[in-house]
Amino acid sequence: METRRGIPVSPGICLGEAVVLGHEDLRIEVRTILPENVEAEIHKFDSAVARVVEEITQEITRFGDTLRITRQILESHRGMVTDPGLREEIVSRIRDSHQSAEYALTLVLRGYHKRFEQMESEYLSERSHDLADIERKLLRALLGKQLARLQERGSDAVLVGHNLTPGEAVTLDPNWVKAFAIDVGGRTSHTAIMARALQIPAVVGLKNISELISGGEQVVVDGYTGLVIIDPDSKTLELYRGRATSSRDFYRRLHREIGLPAETVDGYTISLAANIEMPQEIHVALEWGACGIGLYRTEFLYEKGEPDEELHFRTYKKAIRDLKGKYLVIRTLDAGADKFHREAVGGHEHNPFLGCRSIRLCFQRPELLKDQLRAILRASVFGPVRILFPMISSLDELRGARAMLKEVEDGLTRDGIEFNSNIPVGIMVEIPSAALLADIFAREVDFFSIGTNDLIQYCLAVDRVNERVAHLYQPAHPAILRLVAGVIDAGRRHGIDVSICGEMSSEPIYTILLLGLGLRSFSVSPISIPTVKRLIRQLNMRDAAEVAKACQQFETSEETLAFIESRVKKFLPDFS
Ligand code: PEP
Ligand code: MG
Repeated sequence: METRRGIPVSPGICLGEAVVLGHEDLRIEVRTILPENVEAEIHKFDSAVARVVEEITQEITRFGDTLRITRQILESHRGMVTDPGLREEIVSRIRDSHQSAEYALTLVLRGYHKRFEQMESEYLSERSHDLADIERKLLRALLGKQLARLQERGSDAVLVGHNLTPGEAVTLDPNWVKAFAIDVGGRTSHTAIMARALQIPAVVGLKNISELISGGEQVVVDGYTGLVIIDPDSKTLELYRGRATSSRDFYRRLHREIGLPAETVDGYTISLAANIEMPQEIHVALEWGACGIGLYRTEFLYEKGEPDEELHFRTYKKAIRDLKGKYLVIRTLDAGADKFHREAVGGHEHNPFLGCRSIRLCFQRPELLKDQLRAILRASVFGPVRILFPMISSLDELRGARAMLKEVEDGLTRDGIEFNSNIPVGIMVEIPSAALLADIFAREVDFFSIGTNDLIQYCLAVDRVNERVAHLYQPAHPAILRLVAGVIDAGRRHGIDVSICGEMSSEPIYTILLLGLGLRSFSVSPISIPTVKRLIRQLNMRDAAEVAKACQQFETSEETLAFIESRVKKFLPDFS
């Protein structure tokens, strides 16, 4: 038995047989043709394109509308394959240089591939994977090779690989591929998004799992904790079998409750929104019943470079349209530290979490924030959008950010471009100074979003990503409860919305406490919506208030946790 830990990117537990994704090498050597065969070679190319188009169309039909992201990927592949410019380049190589169709195709596509790969923008460089996919598809068709489909098997399969391109992902049959364990990637990688869209457990960033596993081994993938266990012993297997069954049953039951309102027994309506990192996750959020997007982390747009205003605008406009009237809270650039953006942050910092990150970076590079704000404002005419500034630690920073917003608004007005001039503006309350001054901030913003992930880190001086001090990272710490209670209270007194978007709000154990502290708006990971909603629907606000009152008297996290656990058991005996 061997255990590896990676980044959990899609929840759930799966036990299955490892299938290692092989790399199909279709590299083409230099090959020329006789001049008299030119027309036949062009015809061969056109026939291959027609076959690939048919293959893609069949795949689109197979997936139907069940998986919108897959459909989008396939449709973009079909568009690339039939692009007249691509045909022209290939045909002229066949005609003028007498290159074989395969060789011409490889040269042209690899040229594009290289250019895309080097692009700074993550969005564009991700397109290089799509190019590799269509190259493989066209070469297979030209060489008369069948797609080496992974064989269907009796048991559930855990797909293990170095990486999973969108083209590979869409050929997988979700009836038997039940989990991913992948060497590379993070929360925003294609694999992560696909796994969340397919709603199967996935762990990425496992470094060399594809070398450790040769195929056929029993593997456990725990998409909650990021653990991957190879060849588990019988005791571990038993344990995870139990967890997998209860997790599956639990979600199946919850899925039936999606249409029910998030309302307490005594009639308080709670707003339950979702946190997303990529706009492609919107449909998962809506599927699980989100009332809006309470936190859209926009860092993925910057991961490999700086997006221009147009890319921002197109992305936001599409997200707003997909939400069909439900609100979207766009958080401005929060790069740095755990969300590292090499180019912009620039150079080494001894304390990146306390360094030039997030809004601080935006003050040093105002154009970064201005481009984003201009795009958000332009998109604001398409639906309800709110702006959320991260890492605000002082009133000066808030005023500085607002001044930049005003400048951008004035520019749009001068240019005669329409925008919502009353766009709600809020701050992440994630630095203790902002929490302590919440009553002052509340006079100058429209809403608060409490970021407990950072608030805990900065208040307790515990690095949120350091395993060695993970035991000190305590959401139930009395100091955290005091800060959170103070912010909720300040918001209530000033009549502004207060939401919590840190992971604490996704953890059902804290739902009763947060409701009792007066929280009426949660923003959680999409998959947590039904669990939190179920709890809300079984609770009574008077009981929640009593729990919160008691918790505020405790002096340690342990006391608080033990008390909440006992109350949750008492009020919700069937909640596991
Ligand atoms: C937080 O800090 O709680 C938060 C929601 O933001 P992030 O996790 O993106 O820092
Ligand atoms: Mg944060």
